[in-house]
Amino acid sequence: MNENYYEKILDRLKKYFGEIERRDEGFFHELIKATLSQNTTDTNSIQAYKNLIKTIDNNLENLSNDKYYDEIKDSIRIAGLNNQKARTLCALGRKFFTGQKYSDVEERIKKVDVSEIISEFLAIDGIGLKTISCAILFGLHRCAFPVDTHISRITQKIKNEKISKLNIQKEIEGSIQNWEKLKALHLYLIELGRGICRAKKQNCQICPIRELCEDYRSR
Ligand code: SF4
Repeated sequence: MNENYYEKILDRLKKYFGEIERRDEGFFHELIKATLSQNTTDTNSIQAYKNLIKTIDNNLENLSNDKYYDEIKDSIRIAGLNNQKARTLCALGRKFFTGQKYSDVEERIKKVDVSEIISEFLAIDGIGLKTISCAILFGLHRCAFPVDTHISRITQKIKNEKISKLNIQKEIEGSIQNWEKLKALHLYLIELGRGICRAKKQNCQICPIRELCEDYRSR
């Protein structure tokens, strides 16, 4: 597999899908969205996020206030695992917003190295590598490549080998050192997984990356 393999995949997907719009928000908002999106659909996690923001009066500092805990838990019920997710969000609030202004903390995070951000947030129960990588990529516009189940499945198809999520992330981050390209590749692979390279049935005949897909080439 040559050096610019993932760049080639990105080029083909860009030609096929065109520009994909995504409105990014600040780091903590992206972190909350990614936490809520675990094990649920986009529709449910987006609704849970809207409910949560309304419940805490659009003020993330309220995540540190215990009196909101039960309301937070109820507001995100639609996203599933609401007890666990509420505990994570409130732990996040207590750690970062107790006696500190949201804007100050967000500014501080922007100056911290990516590796330090990852260690700091992985220490919070319920935040995994994919979740914090989403917040770094979409919220800080810095290099990180979140690997979810779909991206893991498709990448293993195109490489035709078993490879862990962590190694996929390391390999792609090693190949592409530009956050905009990493963001585009992430969004395109998700789109490919939804419409063409589905878990149950792959529509290889219309797949724009079939010449680069080792699984397809090996048949
Ligand atoms: S060629 Fe087939 S298996 Fe390979 S990525 Fe495309 S749809 Fe998936």
